[in-house]
Amino acid sequence: MSYPQLVIDRVAISENAAGIVSRCNKAGIAVAGVTKGVSAQPDLARIMKEAGCVWLADSRLANIRRLREAAVEGPFLLLRIPMPQEIPELFDLADMTLVSMAETIDLLDRHGRDSSREIGTIVMIDLGDLREGFWPDEIEAVAEAYRRAPRVRCCGIGVNFGCFGGVLPTASNLSRLVVIARELERYLGTKMQIFSGGATSSLALLEKGELPEEINQLRIGEAILLGSDVTGNRLIPWLRQDTMTFEAQIVEVRCKPSVPIGIIGADAFGNVPVFEDRGKRLRAIVASGRQDIRPEGLVPQLPGAEILGASSDHLLLDVEDCHPSLKLGDIISFRVDYGAMMAATTSRYVEVKVF
Ligand SMILES: *Cc1c(COP(=O)(O)O)cnc(C)c1O
Repeated sequence: MSYPQLVIDRVAISENAAGIVSRCNKAGIAVAGVTKGVSAQPDLARIMKEAGCVWLADSRLANIRRLREAAVEGPFLLLRIPMPQEIPELFDLADMTLVSMAETIDLLDRHGRDSSREIGTIVMIDLGDLREGFWPDEIEAVAEAYRRAPRVRCCGIGVNFGCFGGVLPTASNLSRLVVIARELERYLGTKMQIFSGGATSSLALLEKGELPEEINQLRIGEAILLGSDVTGNRLIPWLRQDTMTFEAQIVEVRCKPSVPIGIIGADAFGNVPVFEDRGKRLRAIVASGRQDIRPEGLVPQLPGAEILGASSDHLLLDVEDCHPSLKLGDIISFRVDYGAMMAATTSRYVEVKVF
């Protein structure tokens, strides 16, 4: 066993995925299981598929490659609009990609002609979050791009919320997506198969019965992996939050003053730290830092323990109020948020264990 490690409970993930799939399927919605939050850990991707996710989706081709190499079955959807340089790889690895530029559709078609292959696409529309997406008044130009790109199939339309602007999905902005889809169908003379209505944050609308009935796909990562919805600022009550813990080992325990001694410059990351004088306190150092996790996204599970700060390789905790007292070699475990989960599964210093 080697620390630090991220310990993931396969039963909890499986229950979350199955719960989401069952709710979505009742409303005629297929789930794309999003694996990027765990760097496409193959066991977890397999659990998503077994629970009934129709698609596996990731923002990076390197992650989709990891899944293919582990013999996980697709189909695979690339969630990040592709780089021009990765288009050949995209055709090799993914079945479908999101698009938001007419030039990208042109480039996809060119590669399709050169390699005698086709690729599926979902047209992303920006409904106010201001990350990726065509502007709603560009639909005629979108249709033109598809008309000159016979190797690129227009399979559907999609939208993303809550990523840059923090904009929430609503019945009203999703109805606009449907109206825009109808307009694109008119220009193209074909029907859209996929109406992709967002991510975890769209589950709140599903629960309230406010998703437009045309929406037939959601792309879900956070809710499966953590049972939470950070954009909607809630723990999802019908899902499990006890899906994973980050565990790290104590390398020093000592009573120290709570205010540094000397002239204060800046910490290792250029911030000027501020300290409250609480007298001498028992403090522990665990062998983990910013090369392993996002310290701000950790919550110690040990009552009384409080995170004081972190450098690249050390995490400092106040453990004065922990009983029994901690000692060298003890393991401290933490709950993680999305950012900490992502960092831990990306770091080559963290062992990811799915049990
Ligand atoms: C990350 C991502 C998702 C999944 O988001 P969650 O909030 O984790 O469910 C869906 N769609 C796109 C385009 C993404 O980049």
